[in-house]
Amino acid sequence: MQVVVIGSGHAGFSAVNTFLKNEEDLEITMITEDPYPFYPRPIIYKIIQGEKPENVIRYPKKWYIDHNINLVLNKRVIGIENKDNFVITEDGTKLSYDKLLITTGSKPFIPPIPGIHDGPVYCLRSIDDALKIRKKALNCETKKATILGGGLLSVELAKALSEIGIAPTIIDRSPYLLRKQLDGEGGYFFNKILDKSLDTRFLFNSTCQKIQRNGEKMTIEIKDVIGVSKYKCEFLLNATGIQNDNSLANKAGLTLGKYAISVDPHMKTSMKNIYAAGDAVDIGSFPGSKFGIIPTAIDQARIAALNILGKEIQYPGTVPWTTLKVAGIDLTSIGDVTMESGVEEKGVVLDFDRGIYRKLFFKNQKLRGVILIGTRENLRSLKDLTMKKASFQEVKNELNLA
Ligand SMILES: Cc1cc2nc3c(=O)[nH]c(=O)nc-3n(C[C@H](O)[C@H](O)[C@H](O)COP(=O)(O)OP(=O)(O)OC[C@H]3O[C@@H](n4cnc5c(N)ncnc54)[C@H](O)[C@@H]3O)c2cc1C
Repeated sequence: MQVVVIGSGHAGFSAVNTFLKNEEDLEITMITEDPYPFYPRPIIYKIIQGEKPENVIRYPKKWYIDHNINLVLNKRVIGIENKDNFVITEDGTKLSYDKLLITTGSKPFIPPIPGIHDGPVYCLRSIDDALKIRKKALNCETKKATILGGGLLSVELAKALSEIGIAPTIIDRSPYLLRKQLDGEGGYFFNKILDKSLDTRFLFNSTCQKIQRNGEKMTIEIKDVIGVSKYKCEFLLNATGIQNDNSLANKAGLTLGKYAISVDPHMKTSMKNIYAAGDAVDIGSFPGSKFGIIPTAIDQARIAALNILGKEIQYPGTVPWTTLKVAGIDLTSIGDVTMESGVEEKGVVLDFDRGIYRKLFFKNQKLRGVILIGTRENLRSLKDLTMKKASFQEVKNELNLA
């Protein structure tokens, strides 16, 4: 059977691994517009700090050759002819398939701020983006940058830029960083300890209203509870979220959901023999699951690959988890930590001196989410306990909680 995987990101790579583990008799092609084979996106900030691209690529080209995978780099797929079972690239190359898996991911969302398009806006999505950001940072005279957004990417960008002498300002409309991974108390705690170690200014509860460009320099106009103010900087980075590029799916005639390619719980699209997974899909509501994160992309792609192999398995949803280390601070967020009602917070540790924060979130007596800052103690167990929605008694017994 000939399988073509479009995309070499977390979903595409997870699918290829699943194929390799489960079936020997496949002809696998992985095609990507990226000039590099798979790399984990959370570590590309290291390139801004000076790391070489080859050092963030986990599996060199030789790995694909050794595993009999036809890896096609630097080619964008622009068409899918499902009637004749082939995909076509920008340069006219045709690749035949029996089964096709689309894992084309997402792209940065650029907010409609007046003036934003009057000059370069830097976004971090790929190795090449990171190289461009590094080049700009090294040539930045005033060393002043602005990062729009206060999520994971912004924190990674702030960390990378601080380390090469750029002082970024993060603007976010939320009252604290990492709104999807932290509760209010955790956000306040994280910020307090981050403040000590990063050369970054935080403007919370603020929105960027306007950008006025003057050659390489720009004036940023922000609005907060006090009013409108302005400051100057030289370098604008956007990390306000993601959106889907549905052009390929649209052209192929695939049914779209609200945002992206519509798939059923087997990760099948509306067309025969075509599957999709990761950031590129819209699978409807799976309570507790989150879109736009690596665990979801990996799980969905594994399910898609197994279904391609005829296993008939449904996607069960994904318990989200994120771990990162910023300025020496470990941060882990597992499951749902932003539930609005009926939540009981237990096992709370808030220790500024040791820089440790821990909170467990229970709903209907079941463990639904965990935040750990400054510690990785019991991380594995807490992840497993959240996955199986353990009771407080089980958690207490396993972790010796008071
Ligand atoms: C800098 C950064 C840090 C992140 N950190 C975290 C984190 O700490 N934790 C977390 O859970 N998530 C994180 N994320 C989000 C996470 O990386 C994504 O959710 C994940 O990459 C989605 O995987 P995917 O395979 O669906 O898409 P992607 O990884 O985006 O891969 C899409 C692939 O498709 C290719 N492609 C697209 N269109 C075409 C086309 N027409 N033809 C050929 N190839 C095409 C692209 O080149 C790429 O190879 C981060 C994202 C970024 C950018």
